[in-house]
Amino acid sequence: MAELKQLADLFGCELAEAIDADYGALSRESEFLTHPVFNTHHSETAMMRYIRMLEQRDLSLVHSMIALGSCTMKLNAATEMMPVTMGGFGNIHPFAPQAQTAGYRTLFERLEVWLSEITGFAATSLQPNAGSQGEYAGLLAIRGYHRANGDDQRNVCLIPSSAHGTNPASAVMAGMRVVVTACDDEGNIDVAELREKAVEHAENLAALMVTYPSTHGVFEQSIVEICDIIHQNGGQVYMDGANMNAQVGLCRPGDFGPDVCHLNLHKTFCIPHGGGGPGMGPICVQSHLAPFLPSHPLIDITGECGGNGSVGPVSAAPWGSPSILPIPYAYISMMGADGLTQATEIAILNANYIAKRLEPHFPVLYKGGHDRVAHECIIDLRHLKEIASNEDVAKRLMDFGFHAPTMSFPVPGTLMIEPTESENLAEIDRFCRAMIQIREEFTAIENGSADAKNNMLMNAPHTAEEVAGAEWNHPYSRDEAAFPADWVRENKFWPYVARIDNAYGDRNLVCSCLPIDAYED
Ligand SMILES: *Cc1c(COP(=O)(O)O)cnc(C)c1O
Repeated sequence: MAELKQLADLFGCELAEAIDADYGALSRESEFLTHPVFNTHHSETAMMRYIRMLEQRDLSLVHSMIALGSCTMKLNAATEMMPVTMGGFGNIHPFAPQAQTAGYRTLFERLEVWLSEITGFAATSLQPNAGSQGEYAGLLAIRGYHRANGDDQRNVCLIPSSAHGTNPASAVMAGMRVVVTACDDEGNIDVAELREKAVEHAENLAALMVTYPSTHGVFEQSIVEICDIIHQNGGQVYMDGANMNAQVGLCRPGDFGPDVCHLNLHKTFCIPHGGGGPGMGPICVQSHLAPFLPSHPLIDITGECGGNGSVGPVSAAPWGSPSILPIPYAYISMMGADGLTQATEIAILNANYIAKRLEPHFPVLYKGGHDRVAHECIIDLRHLKEIASNEDVAKRLMDFGFHAPTMSFPVPGTLMIEPTESENLAEIDRFCRAMIQIREEFTAIENGSADAKNNMLMNAPHTAEEVAGAEWNHPYSRDEAAFPADWVRENKFWPYVARIDNAYGDRNLVCSCLPIDAYED
């Protein structure tokens, strides 16, 4: 009660008499937090071991490459991460008076200038906390621009079928009507159909959302023409910049047509983003959209945060999650212009190396001009589905100590691989060797030397418990199951959980708290 009073004092108010008098009636008498996890780890030592045990079940970049296409799982360098723990960055309240945040604002200003320069746009807003939030903020800016021109009716948003799921979701949230346009067999936007739809909706066209390079892992070669078509029909172009790791230093969206794009600072600019950690999705805009960037009611210095045509904030805090901005700041300043360009080149080189090495074993689904991919490649396994699936490959990679690439996105039945510039040749070769060996396991099933159902691919991953168990009912050896390559013998990561039925699990929720019988009475 004393604490409650103190808290009320702090805000300069008094507790209502009723609360004062009835405090006893409000105090909880039922048991709570009864799960053992809340009542087991009482000392720091015990807690440390518990946390460490959880950590050990998690395969991360400290173990091996995570070639998750579209996610850009690159190095989060120690030097970039260090400032995050400094009090000057970590202990400032997002609403601290501006007089106390001069250093932070210098960081914002520099970063805005750099990101504008990298993208070729006029202005940047650091407010959105994720790529998806950037999409929303960018579309609101487009809507604000149309309204300022008296074009209130412009609400149609064209989205190619290859788009990331966040694109249509953001468009709907921004009050737009989604019209999907098709891709051709090479995975590129079907320009003829796009033109048709843009003309058909010219009266009401608000925007096109286009990902460049596309989610199919290729540089859309008609990007300039595509932007022109939209502009000719009164629309604005939103570029999804999640794949900016294939552009930085080589080309700039602001130079080839888009009016606004977001950047995923947790992809291209090194903020770590496993497990849903905080991200940043700033947007960069051409000058005509700058007045419509998100603002914030607590920041009244004109031009400091948002423009005068803004609809207001898209996030709780004026500059999103500023405490992680030192990471991209350090990345950009330590790399410098030449370093950033080289990183992009190596990222593209690595993806093409993997595409070429794997192509004799798995067809590469989409390629652009010169028979090349961008910074990621999609390998096709659909023709093998009578033997085993892309999911089986994903699970078998766990036995080799690798995280699976992106599975069935954007094309069901495929795997999308993005190595980034951070992986060296030895690691990339290790990954390719695992993939090629797995392809041989397909062949073994196909020609009958491995069982059609009871095989290493479909039983993967193999846990320590199973491999060391008294029973072993497989026609292959424990050694082949758990140690499929020499490097695994040196440095084995044991999957903790064996194969689960994903779809069944999604559809049948089971409480994983205490065993069901604990709830019996
Ligand atoms: C990651 C991604 C997004 C969404 O970004 P979030 O930060 O996860 O909201 C949008 N589009 C593409 C192509 C992406 O890869």
